[in-house]
Amino acid sequence: SEGWLRRQMATQREEAAGLQCNPRRVRFVSEAQTVRQGSAGLLYWMARDHRVQDNWALVHAQQLALQEELPLHICVCLLVPESQLSTVRHYSFMLKGLEEVAKECIELGIQFHLLHGAAGDVLPGLVSDRSLGAVVTDFSPLRTPLQALDSVRKSLPEDIPLIQVDAHNIVPCWVASNKLEYAARTIRGKITKLLPEFLTDFPMVGKHSYTATRTAKPVDWEGALASLQLDVTVGEVEWAKPGTAAGTAMLESFIDLRLKHFATHRNDPNSAALSQLSPWLRFGHLSAQRVALQVQRFGKKFSQSVAPFIEELVVRRELTDNYCFYNDNYDNIKGAYEWAQKTLKDHTKDKREYVYTQADLEKAKTHDKLWNGAQYQMVTEGKMHGFLRMYWAKKILEWTSSPEQALSIALYLNDRYSLDGQDPNGFVGCMWSICGIHDQGWAERPVFGKIRYMNYKGCLRKFDVAKFETKYCPK
Ligand code: FAD
Repeated sequence: SEGWLRRQMATQREEAAGLQCNPRRVRFVSEAQTVRQGSAGLLYWMARDHRVQDNWALVHAQQLALQEELPLHICVCLLVPESQLSTVRHYSFMLKGLEEVAKECIELGIQFHLLHGAAGDVLPGLVSDRSLGAVVTDFSPLRTPLQALDSVRKSLPEDIPLIQVDAHNIVPCWVASNKLEYAARTIRGKITKLLPEFLTDFPMVGKHSYTATRTAKPVDWEGALASLQLDVTVGEVEWAKPGTAAGTAMLESFIDLRLKHFATHRNDPNSAALSQLSPWLRFGHLSAQRVALQVQRFGKKFSQSVAPFIEELVVRRELTDNYCFYNDNYDNIKGAYEWAQKTLKDHTKDKREYVYTQADLEKAKTHDKLWNGAQYQMVTEGKMHGFLRMYWAKKILEWTSSPEQALSIALYLNDRYSLDGQDPNGFVGCMWSICGIHDQGWAERPVFGKIRYMNYKGCLRKFDVAKFETKYCPK
């Protein structure tokens, strides 16, 4: 019945009461390690993981605040870069998710602050205004959030600890591996070995016992969205409702309806076999750890589907954080292995049968109806089927004048239209397809060199291509 999963999750959290955040999930970014004496509260700077429950950063922040007998605050720093990637599709999803967070905070006696500006500029002001004694934050391996973290570290007073908790990965990124992993096969064993330690239940973030004397200014959510300079031509999507509650409902429908088909139909773009959870995971509305726990617990009947799903959700996904964390060139050709860079260079001058511009591709104007349909699916629905994403990116390599251009177009389109874009999974997906990262060399051929090739005929063998084309090809 509707909502069974939410009830189960509430019970699981109650049963896990008292569970502490594993100290290996936590690291000090600052020299200071103890909460400033005489302070009036503690802050969780919510950056990547926009949810209240199932969030180790918030669990840790609350436990610390309780230990120090202090009120708890949460802040989000909203800075919208001037870019074609700043769309209504992404920011509306994000702000509506945060609205749910803010509502839950009111019920829990936690002060929620929406700050406008770069974290390094606005967060220290909140810390001094409210006399906050420590800052806890979550973890992202990407360049911009790492720069923001560094800037907050530099601008906070020296005696205020800045503490980072990996709330996104099941096995914390720095614990899973201390180096750039070569492929799924080199990280799989390391992650699997650590799952008994890290794939645990979450304790409830409960009503906070210490209340701030001054409450946070209520947020005008509609006004906040309207005030942002966003590209309105890429609009909201119907099927994906923002927030933790909607994400949980999507997880419930996956377990009830689609998980049983995952093993056999996950590569068929005409089948409803995937979880569809990537947007909620991307914005942190859902925790991957929570998803893994529920699928293992309630998917037992479909054990042949559980293993391949966990492989994607845990091993493949956590490999992408590893890649971005340990490789500064995660979004350009220099981030590829030497063999891949060499083979792509050797074939740069190969004749291309078709050459398209970014504008042709963006408008789905190619000779290939399957490709056009996939592009159209991404533009209109905000998510392309996982199997087609590989085909789609590889064709961009085949039909543009250089691998550099192909990668830049693939990233631009993916990050502008996919609701789950601008995420390590997207960087790695494009780098895998075009530059062979986490893959091996294959038989050499024009344009691709030794990069794995995919073609239309292969798709015809896998699924009913005509059916997909009919549904998605713009007339
Ligand atoms: P499911 O198959 O139900 O998988 C569940 C979860 O496992 C996903 O939500 C995701 O978190 C993880 N996962 C699944 N496949 C992969 C994978 N290959 N690598 C890493 N994690 C995976 N994923 C994104 O989240 N954002 C992106 O921007 C993105 N861009 C991609 C671009 C290209 C060119 C390619 C080839 C892949 C890309 N992926 C991206 C990875 C993958 O295609 C999507 O995660 C998946 O299609 C999301 O749909 P789902 O949640 O229904 O997947």
